Amino acid sequence: MWLVRGVGEPELIEGDISIHDDNERNADPCTSRDCMWPKSSDGKVYIPYVIANHYSDRERQIIQRGLDSFSFITCIRFIPRSNERDYISIESLNGCYSYIGRTGNAQTLSLARSGCIYHDTVQHELLHALGFNHEQTRNDRDSYIRVAWENIMEGKEHNFNKKETLNQGTTYDYNSVMQYHKTAFSKNGLPTMIPIPDPNVPFGTATEMSQNDIIRINRLYQCCEFFSCLAEKLC
Ligand SMILES: [Zn+2]
Repeated sequence: MWLVRGVGEPELIEGDISIHDDNERNADPCTSRDCMWPKSSDGKVYIPYVIANHYSDRERQIIQRGLDSFSFITCIRFIPRSNERDYISIESLNGCYSYIGRTGNAQTLSLARSGCIYHDTVQHELLHALGFNHEQTRNDRDSYIRVAWENIMEGKEHNFNKKETLNQGTTYDYNSVMQYHKTAFSKNGLPTMIPIPDPNVPFGTATEMSQNDIIRINRLYQCCEFFSCLAEKLC
């Protein structure tokens, strides 16, 4: 997901992830601070949100569909905010971006009206807010993709730094909605990531969360302990 940093907006690292300060670079945010959203006693994870009023009805519908898409397959429930302290504020700023996990208080999740109002983009940014990183920064990615540093735009290399990710026992997934397109940040149109061993496998073209994306949510937030009715294949 592309972005341009706007004046007064937080610094963005790795394309569409915002941070408060440089100390959080390269750290796994979920282990260095408490960035999980809390679980309710009924086993669900309620995450309050507000959608800014500058969206059209159609745009709002797409965003709402993205929020609702977590409901039937995970224990995550995005709920309209009443007076909760911590919540996600969905706004059209300069690009598509989110913080990783819960920051506390209001946290901006930007879905620009121009370029970000797509189902997969909404899910992608919400997954960041749930605590997930990009697929290509997984700590085991070198077994699945080769980063073609020679094709990356100067100054954008940091988007391909690895992180100490928690992979929830799931394998690298070329079809994750968290996987960038193969030419992301390319300076010459050539791929910046090349699948191993078959360079021709379809890659970074997900239009919605993959089964692995859903399983990771259910494992990280321990959804399946409470919901035996969830299809086993999603646990
Ligand atoms: Zn992203």
